[in-house]
Amino acid sequence: MIASELNFLVVEDDDFQRRIVVAMLRSLGAVEVQEAGNGRQALEILHVANPRSVDIVLCDMDMPEMDGMEFLRHLGQENNTAAVIILSMLERVLLVSVEKMSEAYGVKLLGAVEKPITLVQLEALIFRYERGENRVRQSHGVVQVFTLEEIRQGMKAEQFEPYFQPKVDMKKGRLMGAEALARWIHPKCGVIAPCAFIPLLEKAREMDELTFMMLEKSVAACRSLQDKGHSLAISINVSLTSLTDITLADRVTQTVLGAGVDPRDIVLEVTESAAMTNVAHALENLARLRMHGFGLSIDDFGTGYSSMQQLMRIAFSELKIDQSFVKNIAHNEAMRIMVESSIGLARKLKVKSVAEGVETQQDWEVLKSLNCDIAQGYFIAKPMSLDAFMDYCAGGGE
Ligand code: C2E
Ligand code: MG
Ligand code: MG
Repeated sequence: MIASELNFLVVEDDDFQRRIVVAMLRSLGAVEVQEAGNGRQALEILHVANPRSVDIVLCDMDMPEMDGMEFLRHLGQENNTAAVIILSMLERVLLVSVEKMSEAYGVKLLGAVEKPITLVQLEALIFRYERGENRVRQSHGVVQVFTLEEIRQGMKAEQFEPYFQPKVDMKKGRLMGAEALARWIHPKCGVIAPCAFIPLLEKAREMDELTFMMLEKSVAACRSLQDKGHSLAISINVSLTSLTDITLADRVTQTVLGAGVDPRDIVLEVTESAAMTNVAHALENLARLRMHGFGLSIDDFGTGYSSMQQLMRIAFSELKIDQSFVKNIAHNEAMRIMVESSIGLARKLKVKSVAEGVETQQDWEVLKSLNCDIAQGYFIAKPMSLDAFMDYCAGGGE
C-alpha cells in the first residue's frame, strides 16, 4: 500500500499550515486529501463519507469550535477506524498526555508530532500505518479474535501454560525468582498473550479456573526448581475479581501446601480492577493469605485510581512499579521522579521495590542508582517456557 491508495483528512484551522500539510501529502503521492477547519467540520466529513473512506486523519489540537481533543473523543466513541496523526504546537509533556488520552479513548494513534511536521516525519508515520504499527487497535484486534467459547475449549484441553520471566536482585545481581505469566499454547495460532483471553474471562467472571490452573502448574514448577537446588520465589498474578470469593485464600493455601511448597516462596501479584465488587471479601482474603505467609505484591503500581488507598489497607510485601514509568526512565524526568518516589515509598513502608519493563542497560543503571531492589524486563530476559527457564537457571541465569 502506498500513499496514493490512502484517503487523508487534514484538520487544521490555519489555512496556510493546512495547505502546507496537504502539499506535503501530495508530494508523497497522495490523491485523496480532504480538508477541515475544525473538529466539527471533520466529523461532518466523516459522517457523510462511508466510515471506511478516511484512512489517516492529520489533526491539529488548538482549533476554534471543536478542538482536537474533543474531536478525538468523538472519533473514539464512534469506533471510527481512521488512524490519527496529531500535529501540534503543544509542549512535549502536553503532547504525551494527549497521546495517553487518545489511547484511553481507543483511537488508533500513529504518532504525535510538534509542528511544523517535516516531510521525513510524515513519510515515516505513513510507513508506520502501512506496516500496521498502531498499538491501540492492534491489541483490541487480538482480543476479538477469540470467543469466550473458544477460550473455554482451550482451557478444557489444558492448552494454558505459565511462562516464566526472571526477577533479579539488583544489588547482588542474582536471579531471585520469576513471574509466571499465562500463555495459551494454541494448536493453530501459536503462543497467545493474556490480553487475548483474560479480559473476556474476567468479564464473564470465569477467571477462577485459569487462576488455579496457573497456580497448580507454577507451584509444581517451583517445587521441581527447588528440588534442583534453585531456591527461587515464584510470583503469580491474581486479579482482584477472583478475590471476591471468600473461599479463595484457603483454596490457594491448600493448593500450595499440597504441592509441598512453602507459601513464603510464593508471591501473589494483585492487579487493581475497577470491576471489584466486594472490597471486604478481597481484604479478608488478602489478610488471610498474608497470615499464611504468602508474599503480596501490588502490581502495576502508579496506574489506576486507588493504588495509594490499597497500599494503606493491605499488608503488601512488594511494590511493583508499572512498566510505563520504567520504560522511559532515562529520558523522561517526570518518570524518573515517579519511580524514585515509589522506591522511596517502598523503603519507608519496608517492602521490596520491583521495577518491571526494564528494557535497556540505561534503564538498569538508573534503577540501580535509585537503589531499586528487584528488576524484571526484556533487558534481563523475556518470559519463557518452563523448559527454557530450567535451562536458564541451570546456566546460572544467563
Ligand atoms: P503484569 O503482571 O504487569 O506482567 C508484566 C507484563 O509485562 C507481561 O505481559 C510481560 O511479558 C511484560 N513485560 C515484561 N518485561 C517487559 C519489558 O521489558 N518490556 C515490555 N514491553 N513488556 C514487558 P503479559 O505476559 O502479556 O501479561 C500482561 C498482563 O496479563 C500481566 O501484567 C497480568 O496483569 C496479566 N496476567 C498474565 N498472566 C496472568 C494470570 O495467570 N492471571 C491473571 N489474573 N493475570 C495474568
Ligand atoms: Mg504481574
Ligand atoms: Mg505490571
